[in-house]
Amino acid sequence: MHYRQIFFVAAAALLLGCNHATGQQTGQQTDKQTDTVNTADAAEAGLVKADAHPDVATGIPALAQRLIDAYPEQKLVYRDNHIVFPDGTQIIYDDGKEKTFEQMLDNCDIEDMLAMTYNPDTKVPAYLEDAGRARSEAFFKKMYGNSEAAVRKNLVSVNWFGQRLLFTRVNGADRQLLKVAEEIAKYPELKKYMEQSSSFYWRPVRGANRLSAHSYGMTIDICTKYSNYWLWSNRGAGEMTKGLKYENRIPLQIVKIFEKHGFIWGGRWYHYDTMHFEYRPEFF
Ligand SMILES: [Zn+2]
Repeated sequence: MHYRQIFFVAAAALLLGCNHATGQQTGQQTDKQTDTVNTADAAEAGLVKADAHPDVATGIPALAQRLIDAYPEQKLVYRDNHIVFPDGTQIIYDDGKEKTFEQMLDNCDIEDMLAMTYNPDTKVPAYLEDAGRARSEAFFKKMYGNSEAAVRKNLVSVNWFGQRLLFTRVNGADRQLLKVAEEIAKYPELKKYMEQSSSFYWRPVRGANRLSAHSYGMTIDICTKYSNYWLWSNRGAGEMTKGLKYENRIPLQIVKIFEKHGFIWGGRWYHYDTMHFEYRPEFF
């Protein structure tokens, strides 16, 4: 699916409570003029970013450019519907497949991954608002390592409130985590939320084939004692269940500090996971 269409579909799904956020195309594209107007309307409604339109001069989709800019260390380029690494590795940008929400989680291309806007002002996430929860596994394996051993080669020990946490140095994620620690340390009342944190763990998501973000070494879970998780609070719920009860006990002050340094928060997902922060600079 073309990324412009996916934006409109995601926007429509949010408005209509559609079960398949990425499932159906809303119609044929007509011309640039119409497209621009639609994008502007959607942006005005707060559902897409105003820069969603492709850069006409370069021909690089704006979302692809955002990815390239977010990971300068990777020296990525966009070519012929692929994100290309300096060693020639190419990862497809848009696989052109229509997917249901659940198919998208398990088989996410780069365009799918970037199509939802991460909203740092979200209080209670809307139905299926999960920006960043779906990941292009090929892209993250290429950057951080395609096996546990390969990821481990890039891990360093970070001092996290007296705990030693393994975190990747790829993309400077370890340095960003240290900045978060330094800033949170200024507020002693927040320290209790940092106890018994965890980071690297190579494993699939429970009940799914895809890898957890913890596998890549750029993700941290803070104290479980103060955490809420959509499945703990909604026993028996599934991915498509509507009306999930939302709960959070993590102070937004902590969240804002993580976000300032490029980490998204699982508490802004409809399928929330409030202890979870992962380094995803492409969403800021
Ligand atoms: Zn987590």
